[in-house]
Amino acid sequence: MIELAGNILEGGGQILRNATALSCILGKPIKITDIRANRSKPGLRPQHLCGIQLLGDMSHAKLSGDQVNSCVVELQPSGQVHGGIYSKEVGTAGSLVLLLQSSLPVALFSDQACDLTLGGGTNAESAPPIDYFTTVFLPIAQQIGLRVDCQLLKRGFYPKGGGKVRVCIEPIKCLKPIVLLDRGEIIKVEGISYVSGQLPVKVAQQSAAAASKHLQKHLPKSVSISVAARYESASQATATGSGVFLAAYTTTGCIFGGTSIGKRGKAAEQVAREAADELLVAVQQLGCVDEHLQDQLIIFMALASGQSKVRCGPLTLHTETAIHIAKKLTGVEFEIAPQEDGTVVISCDGIAFQNSHL
Ligand code: ATP
Repeated sequence: MIELAGNILEGGGQILRNATALSCILGKPIKITDIRANRSKPGLRPQHLCGIQLLGDMSHAKLSGDQVNSCVVELQPSGQVHGGIYSKEVGTAGSLVLLLQSSLPVALFSDQACDLTLGGGTNAESAPPIDYFTTVFLPIAQQIGLRVDCQLLKRGFYPKGGGKVRVCIEPIKCLKPIVLLDRGEIIKVEGISYVSGQLPVKVAQQSAAAASKHLQKHLPKSVSISVAARYESASQATATGSGVFLAAYTTTGCIFGGTSIGKRGKAAEQVAREAADELLVAVQQLGCVDEHLQDQLIIFMALASGQSKVRCGPLTLHTETAIHIAKKLTGVEFEIAPQEDGTVVISCDGIAFQNSHL
């Protein structure tokens, strides 16, 4: 059994997600201790628990320590991943997109398609919003062979959650390497500013206008900017919520995200500004991925067949953590090469993991 310290580097939930996903794919039993030791409430929160249980079901694994607040988990996967229909509900506003972060790589190596219906928060703090998953992550993931269909059925926000997505993932024989080296020029920014429940559409319109104005000030005139304002009805969102999500596209196919979630007391202009500033940082760093995609691609680079190379901005602690876990479980080496323009190129020769069912 491979022992992993959950308090290393970032010391958060990502260690758990990457480690459990690789454990199920590779059929290697793991024990994780000191789970989320660097967080104010250490141990498993409902989102983490739900993710582990979903992986346990998909890989017919033996689990121990799978309770809320547990700081030690053992997972003994069967070595086979079983596709089919799965349904999981976080039960809080914990991010359902983080459930996908661990279950999607596992589903790729299953014996048949996985049809996942997941409930929880779709737009949660410190997690990818569902808009990021569909707009930034999936189009880039398609380049390495992923065939995934994601339907947003309902948005769910803090504090109640209750959002829902249905995601269908086709299995794959082997992942292609990821090569993202040429940033190109930014051609357009598209985004949405949404409100639901008690909030009037005027709030969404104010955010959309403020985001466009802020972006126009900082981007070349040639970049087209369009931010739509939307009121999401009771059938599209569970309760009151708001947020802005922006995506920037380049001539070479790179996509960057900028996100902000509204909350009581936060002005519409501030929500807009936060999302726009996050996007502008990604644009100004000259990398091919933003600070979030950086860490989210590591697991795929480790499993792919051939050499992956990704140019990014300064390495984040989340990325260093993902690299640490990938090395421990797959044995791959990552090379980190700082460039003169301030970007960093991460490269690795993946283990060419093959789906034994196909
Ligand atoms: P914890 O509370 O334990 O930290 P966590 O489960 O929230 O748990 P993290 O370890 O912090 O997890 O990982 C968060 C993940 O969400 C990372 O992969 C990060 O890149 C991603 N993420 C966070 N914010 C965004 C965002 N605005 N856009 C896209 N991805 C994001």
